[in-house]
Amino acid sequence: MYDVKSLKAEEFISDEEIRETLAYADANKDNVQMVDEILAKARLKKGLTHREASVLLACEMPDKIWEMYDLAREIKEDYYGNRIVLFAPLYLSNYCVNGCVYCPYHSKNKHIARKKLTQEDIVREVTALQDMGHKRLAIEAGEDPVNNPIEYILECINTIYSIKHKNGAIRRVNVNIAATTVENYTKLKDAGIGTYILFQETYHKESYLKLHPTGPKHDYDYHTEAMDRAMEGGIDDVGLGVLFGLEMYRYEFAGLLMHAEHLEAVHGVGPHTISVPRIKRADDIDPDVFDNGISDDTFAKICALIRIAVPYTGMIISTRESQAVREKVLPLGVSQISGGSRTSVGGYDIPETSEDITSAQFDVSDTRTLDQVVNWLMKMDYIPSFCTACYRAGRTGDRFMALCKSMQILNCCHPNALMTLKEYLEDYASPETKQIGLELIERELARIPNEKVRQITADHIHDIAEGQRD
Ligand code: SAM
Repeated sequence: MYDVKSLKAEEFISDEEIRETLAYADANKDNVQMVDEILAKARLKKGLTHREASVLLACEMPDKIWEMYDLAREIKEDYYGNRIVLFAPLYLSNYCVNGCVYCPYHSKNKHIARKKLTQEDIVREVTALQDMGHKRLAIEAGEDPVNNPIEYILECINTIYSIKHKNGAIRRVNVNIAATTVENYTKLKDAGIGTYILFQETYHKESYLKLHPTGPKHDYDYHTEAMDRAMEGGIDDVGLGVLFGLEMYRYEFAGLLMHAEHLEAVHGVGPHTISVPRIKRADDIDPDVFDNGISDDTFAKICALIRIAVPYTGMIISTRESQAVREKVLPLGVSQISGGSRTSVGGYDIPETSEDITSAQFDVSDTRTLDQVVNWLMKMDYIPSFCTACYRAGRTGDRFMALCKSMQILNCCHPNALMTLKEYLEDYASPETKQIGLELIERELARIPNEKVRQITADHIHDIAEGQRD
């Protein structure tokens, strides 16, 4: 059909193939035998093609949908256990030269207060985040070669890593900035970033061109090939995502999986993470932009099917989603969530005033503090994890995928998650959260099958209680 390897990303993720996929899915959505065969393949837990997964997404048979949900839960448990990694976004600058019609950063928006953090601001912001207990950040910036050139981004990363907090440094900085050159990706790699994240927004080229009418982001091919350039530049871990609600979700879902297939075929490693943001109402945005919004049930089905189709890829849910929606999708495959987030530039150090709110990108739905999020996760028997051990041990990219594919990740991630949770409980947690957490650690320690690993973990946890830090 297609020679995945020789085609560029935007050639492979073609409108023609997506339309054929959707027609194929429509034709087969009630075909019980085919749906059962696809589910049988999915039970091998090695993933599905975009066509197979699209048939499942189109299928509306309630009993089959329950099978999909059960399988997604099982895969999540096998590959990721009950750990949920926590992070926070850090907005560096909302200066932007693009004209994205759904984003309040668009260059024509005159209501938004334009802000850019100085290095001193960054020290204050990051210290505030560290005072909450965060160890992992995702930096975000608009695209503006004058106000936010790559040198500024690199300087910010350098500042973040060099901040010496009493409870240790930020251990991983993921980066969500506009598509850039191979040379700049190499600079980001050399600065020690974790994952490079870039949302495709939409794989529907015609809509993409309309939704991004002006600015460098208008170039669909350049944007769609960004992950290839990032990998060429030496970045191991890339994070995909579409902004659900801009176009028809089945189209986006097929495109997203094709993008993952392209990366795996060309670079030998698929995306490290997939984010599933849904469009939110925001300042100076035409309400018509939100016509393709998806229901919470459809959203949950998409999450479950991403988990089934790409079992080795982490899945990220931000505070765009409410507590209730997060509760619904966490068991279906989510591995990372943000907590205590602010989407305004400088929102962590300064309490939100009316002026700060106008610099926010969009309203967050989950406004709880990190302590409340940690408490909530543990009450549902999840282990909130602040772990970045893989990254520090060089287990990224294909090495991480090999570990994940062999399910070995459970053997090292579980103890690491418990140790970082213990640090959090000692250094930051409220008394109630601490109590719940200590009981959880006891229970989870007992679940470590290997006696030697269990003993070493217990010893480290004891040392953390005595004040030792990583
Ligand atoms: N400037 C970078 C770029 O061009 O990709 C990314 C930074 S932007 C702060 C991060 C993401 O926010 C965008 O990729 C977009 O998907 C998302 N976003 C923009 N407007 C949004 C809205 N109204 N609701 C939800 N998410 C939105």
